[in-house]
Amino acid sequence: MQLGRRDFLQLATSAGAGTAIGGLAGLGVTLAPAVARAQELRIKDAKTTPSICPFCSVGCATLIHTVDGKIVNIEGDPRSPHSEGTLCPKGAAIYQLHMNPNRATKVLHRKPGASDWEVVELEWAMDRVAELVKKTRDDTFIEKLPNGKLVNMTPAMFGLGGATLDSEFNHVCQKFWRGLGVVAIENQARI
Ligand code: SF4
Repeated sequence: MQLGRRDFLQLATSAGAGTAIGGLAGLGVTLAPAVARAQELRIKDAKTTPSICPFCSVGCATLIHTVDGKIVNIEGDPRSPHSEGTLCPKGAAIYQLHMNPNRATKVLHRKPGASDWEVVELEWAMDRVAELVKKTRDDTFIEKLPNGKLVNMTPAMFGLGGATLDSEFNHVCQKFWRGLGVVAIENQARI
């Protein structure tokens, strides 16, 4: 069946009028105050903490509302000079990043050759990462090339920044990697 522009508009109008909201809208009733009131109740008595969306380096400002230490709402901060309170679809869904039954909240470690993951302490995991970084650097460090050129580098490690890191954190990361002698440094946003 071929639909012309006029047919499509007529169909869309009658479909809208067939729903409760469409019916109310057809009567000239606006739901905006009710929606605003519901939003107001949701964050009533909540503590507001300014933060930054962690999803990309744009770094849009957010307001996190908590009640008894539990997040009840996250929205854009109108004071943000570049986003002025708006968030892109990823940022607008940020609440689900925190309040999500699938979120990993513990450190998982799979030993070499093992098939199962083990829950380990964060402190242990941080020490293990540091230990392996130091060992790898010590084992592979090249001070000079065969022709005598000073390079002070290791080709055995690769630094990969994530698009969820903001510009400042990426800057600190690459300083850290370069300080270790790592020369293969990239960011996921460029891949
Ligand atoms: S993901 Fe979207 S909301 Fe978050 S910082 Fe980037 S542009 Fe802003």
